[in-house]
Amino acid sequence: MLRPIVRYGDRVLHEAARPVDAITAEIETIVKDMVETMYAAPGIGLAAPQIGVPLRIFVVDLSVGRDPAGLITMINPVFVERDGMQLEEEGCLSIPGFNATVARPQRVVVSGLDLAGQTHAVEGTGLLARAFQHEMDHLDGRLFVDRLRGIKRDMIVRKIRKLTRAGEW
Ligand SMILES: [Zn+2]
Repeated sequence: MLRPIVRYGDRVLHEAARPVDAITAEIETIVKDMVETMYAAPGIGLAAPQIGVPLRIFVVDLSVGRDPAGLITMINPVFVERDGMQLEEEGCLSIPGFNATVARPQRVVVSGLDLAGQTHAVEGTGLLARAFQHEMDHLDGRLFVDRLRGIKRDMIVRKIRKLTRAGEW
C-alpha cells in the first residue's frame, strides 16, 4: 500500500525514532509499504518517519526497483564504520523542490536487522554512503537542511514557511 510521505515541519520528522522491539507482521507490512512508496515517489531511500511511523527502519535501493538485488532493508541500524568526506547535491522526498550541497562521509558500513531478523552489515561508498547517512539522520530526527549552515538553511526554511502559510506545502 502506498503511504503519504510527510513533509518538513511534520513533528515525526523532527524527533528521534524508537527501536523496533520485534519483527512482527505489522513491521513486515510497514517495510513493504515503505518499499512501494519509495519506488512510486520515485526515490532511492526512505525512512519510516517519512511515512509517519516513528520507528528505526529505512530502505535504500539505488536501482529504484530495477535490480532485484538492489533493495537494502535496515531495522535498528547502527554505523560500524564511517570514513572520508564527500560534497554533493542532495534532496529529500520530505522536502520536495529543494536541493543543497551537503557534506557526507565517503564510505560507511551500516549494520542492522533484515526482515528475517538476521543481522547484516552493508558497506557503501559514494552515493550509497550518502543515502545511508541521509536515512540514518532521519531516524535521529535530522533532515538535510539541518546539516546546512546559515544563509542557505534560512533561505530554504523561509521558503517552506511561506509555502506552508499559502497552504501549498
Ligand atoms: Zn530524506
